[in-house]
Amino acid sequence: MSHCIFCKIRDGHVPARLVHRDDHCLAIEDINPQAPTHLLVIPLEHIPTVNDLTENHRELVGHLHLTAAKLARQRGLADSGYRLVFNTQRDAGQTVFHIHLHLLGGRPMEWPPG
Ligand code: IMP
Repeated sequence: MSHCIFCKIRDGHVPARLVHRDDHCLAIEDINPQAPTHLLVIPLEHIPTVNDLTENHRELVGHLHLTAAKLARQRGLADSGYRLVFNTQRDAGQTVFHIHLHLLGGRPMEWPPG
């Protein structure tokens, strides 16, 4: 079995609060939310970091963003706003090495991030 927590969630071996699933990605509630809405949009394919994306992933990357935008609309965040983030490697604080698009919203946010 894969050691990756998001592969385990994808395969149903670890429970998660699933809010979306299709042929290319799933979306779950973050276990440690940093905002009133904190979802993770996760490709079904195990891709460790954004550095590992190739031209073959062009459509997939678009799909992850469109899915996040749809979920943000469903949660009433389209006008108030939200943040989409791929943390990549150590300095960005990446802790799970299976790419995931954070969707954060429901409160004002600061820039630059810490
Ligand atoms: P990263 O720091 O960008 O890699 O984000 C990893 C995110 O995954 C963090 O926000 C964690 O709270 C979240 N996370 C880790 N394990 C789980 C889980 O089992 N279910 C849901 N979210 C998780």
